[in-house]
Amino acid sequence: MHHFQYKNNELFCEDVPVAEIATSVGTPFYLYSEATLTRHFEAFDRGFDGTDHVTCFAVKACSNIAILNLFASLGGGADIVSGGELFRALKGGVPAERIIYSGVGKTEAELSQGLDAGILMFNVESPLELDRLQKVALDQGKTAPVAFRVNPDVDPQTHAYISTGLAKNKFGISVEEALLEYVRARDMEGIDVRGVSCHIGSQLTQIDPFIEALRKLKQFVDRLEEEGISIDYLDLGGGVGITYEDEQPPHPHDYARAIKEELGDMNCTLVLEPGRVIAGNAGILVTQVQYTKVNTGGEKDKHFVIVDAAMNDLTRPSLYGAYHEIIPVTRGDGETQMVDIVGPICETGDFMARDRSLPVVQQDDLLAIMSSGAYGFTMASNYNSRPRAAEVLVRGDKFHVIRTRENFNDLIRGESLLETD
Ligand SMILES: *Cc1c(COP(=O)(O)O)cnc(C)c1O
Repeated sequence: MHHFQYKNNELFCEDVPVAEIATSVGTPFYLYSEATLTRHFEAFDRGFDGTDHVTCFAVKACSNIAILNLFASLGGGADIVSGGELFRALKGGVPAERIIYSGVGKTEAELSQGLDAGILMFNVESPLELDRLQKVALDQGKTAPVAFRVNPDVDPQTHAYISTGLAKNKFGISVEEALLEYVRARDMEGIDVRGVSCHIGSQLTQIDPFIEALRKLKQFVDRLEEEGISIDYLDLGGGVGITYEDEQPPHPHDYARAIKEELGDMNCTLVLEPGRVIAGNAGILVTQVQYTKVNTGGEKDKHFVIVDAAMNDLTRPSLYGAYHEIIPVTRGDGETQMVDIVGPICETGDFMARDRSLPVVQQDDLLAIMSSGAYGFTMASNYNSRPRAAEVLVRGDKFHVIRTRENFNDLIRGESLLETD
């Protein structure tokens, strides 16, 4: 359920007409509904009521500090994968003790930054990372809280680019190797073994792979017990999918119920790292039609709708061939046409949708690209020297610009001409 609905054929975000925001801030822009973000966060989090847990929103899905601040106010934490995301999480008011640091390539500076902040746990992904973390901790006279990211070799049955829990993926360390590392870490000065973590992939539409991974993790935790290593935190990562087109992902409550059931009487605090399932359907990308054109001369006439949003604003269609529903902001008489909806970037891969049946549109019409709240703005770039779009958050009958549109000076910030002598 989300709060982007038509009233008298006009698309609203909560109680604000989307067209009104477009008039005020220009296009393209990302538009988020606070009520939807809240609802999704709470639906997910409440599923785990009765079990000690902390819901750490995956910052890479949607990283605006206003949104991180919203989740923090709802009791949430953050799952980060870079120093930049740590900076954002802290700016967004996320308490350090609810921040988890994942990622295969943490630099020394980033490890140090995490230690300084006093985060809940580093999810370590290699033996060398453990060594580096120990060095940083000893240099700082601190103890680093650690979990290892275990790669359970489970097939999440999702897109190859976002599958992370197979042995062939770069993430985590195998169960066998992890055991040796835990024993090593147990005896290391400056290291405090606190948890076990895994994250097997994104946009999962079935519960089974999660349960299979959890089962393997539980067996692993039992093995650790035998070595005298006890675990306080069990981090199950993110990955619950959403409906973009006709996928039928598990409801967060069913996901939570299945996890709790499998968990049994295991005595530890659960860490959850949802991203997409919370933000995905809570945001849209609003764009304006610049031109329509028909290319003739091929086997069939090809109809194009050229909009002012492009693959630099929303890269998922180009990168993954992902489907996003596209709807008009003002609904017409229902006549449709087969079109490609494309951006202005000089790449054939720059499309929002191909061979799509879309209500007939005209120059200057507004379109809403749905389900763009996760991995939308956060993956945006300046390719073709396009300033990044504005981000707007609606609360009830008011809208707030939570990130202004970039200008041309933003594009060249830090650049300089060579001095001639
Ligand atoms: C990307 C990521 C997540 C979030 O995944 P979603 O599919 O958006 O829920 C959680 N944990 C880690 C370690 C990640 O890399």
